[in-house]
Amino acid sequence: MAIKSINPYTLEISKSYDEMTNKEIDEAVNVAYSTYQNWKKTTFEERAAILNNVGSILRSKKNELARLITLEMGKLIKQAEYEIDYAVSIFEYYAENAKDFLADESLKVDVGEAFIKKSPIGVLLGVEPWNFPFYQVARFAAPNIMIGNTILLKHASNVPQCAKAIEDIFKEANAPEGLYTNLFIRGSKVTKLIADKRIQGASLTGSEKAGSELAMMAGKYIKKSVLELGGSDPFIVLEDADIDRTVNLAIIGRTINNGQSCIAAKRFIIVEKIAKEFLTKFKTKMSTLQLGDPMNMETQLGPVSSEDALNTLLNQVNKAVSEGAKIEIGGKRANLKGFFMEPTIISNITSKMEIYKEELFGPVASFYVVQNEEEAITLANDTEFGLGCSIFTKNLEKAKKLANQIDSGMVFINHPTKSSIELPFGGTKNSGYGRELSPLGIDEFVNKKLIRVLTEEDKL
Ligand code: NAP
Repeated sequence: MAIKSINPYTLEISKSYDEMTNKEIDEAVNVAYSTYQNWKKTTFEERAAILNNVGSILRSKKNELARLITLEMGKLIKQAEYEIDYAVSIFEYYAENAKDFLADESLKVDVGEAFIKKSPIGVLLGVEPWNFPFYQVARFAAPNIMIGNTILLKHASNVPQCAKAIEDIFKEANAPEGLYTNLFIRGSKVTKLIADKRIQGASLTGSEKAGSELAMMAGKYIKKSVLELGGSDPFIVLEDADIDRTVNLAIIGRTINNGQSCIAAKRFIIVEKIAKEFLTKFKTKMSTLQLGDPMNMETQLGPVSSEDALNTLLNQVNKAVSEGAKIEIGGKRANLKGFFMEPTIISNITSKMEIYKEELFGPVASFYVVQNEEEAITLANDTEFGLGCSIFTKNLEKAKKLANQIDSGMVFINHPTKSSIELPFGGTKNSGYGRELSPLGIDEFVNKKLIRVLTEEDKL
């Protein structure tokens, strides 16, 4: 079956690519494997030169690449441009800092010398999602290429043009063949690849289902894995928070990337004393967002990525309503040609409803009222996910104590969860394991090799 690029705003198919044959996949793995034998011997300077070239080319093609993102998955063009800038900075960050991050670590010993040398492990398979087609690839590929590993990249099937563009940029950047290879394959072919002896590790960003299947195979074949999966991040507002500021951030938190971010604020947990005022303002702002062409700089909310994504959201909302939840605003497909969901707020959700446990991947907010902070923390933690969380209050000491009680990989105080190059990104529970970005992001697919040195005179 061909891999197609369908514009979620116009519904036109802009390009389609053939899936790779088994022979082509095997050849790609072979080249990545043989390139690894040389790449692992290169210096940090040689590796950094390639990544800096990749960064420069991305920067010079920013407008064209941003348009490609918007065309394939519907991201607002302004946000697509930001994504390219962010990807550039990730390539440059690891090019500049990898040598320090991977420096030998000496260990205290009674006799002789001992240190940890961080070495590459081999060919890695990255499985990436469509929602940030350049940023997701950058945060996996950049640190691992600096370690000395080589990359096979299976991108999401709805962003093939972005996938191809990234491979072409590596070629243009003078990367040796096999350093970064795009694989046009379906998700179902991934599990077989994990078994391949030439591949030493795999990282997946995406759904729990895909992550669990990949991890199962990685476990079976004893391969290192990293999983960055879904989230249902709580957005907790305490009674002393600045309501207008918090409502503005709630809108950004819920609708960024047309509501399709793993770290989007999804469950709004508001202390009763301010809940009514918060909800009134939240409804007003959400319902006046301007929907439309994501290529237009004025548009505030674009379509979701696909018909399937839209139907999933509509089914989740309809089911919740049939179980007794209340639609505060929205709840339906918007009256536009593309895959548009109305900005939606749902209240009266109980723990018996499916929506209570699920991730909502689009502009749909769950709204909860709690009596106090203890209830807020209990509700925030009552989820199988554990990616991010945000807490809004003027009392920073209290916020830090509450942050300590939250079961998630990241907690932001007075800010929606956000990715930054220098800060570790990742989750706990069903949101996955391992970290990307920051110094921790270069510490996953390395062999932390102990080197112990004694002289012939040293006592054993
Ligand atoms: P998805 O279906 O899991 O797709 C993600 C990637 O996995 C795609 O490349 C997909 O390929 C591949 N895939 C699908 N089934 C697979 C399988 N059985 N084995 C191996 N690979 C498989 O995810 P999605 O629903 O499109 O993406 C949204 C999800 O990603 C959300 O849950 C979101 O929260 C999560 N996400 C997490 C992070 C994070 O950092 N934690 C970041 C972004 C998104 P095909 O396209 O060919 O199916």
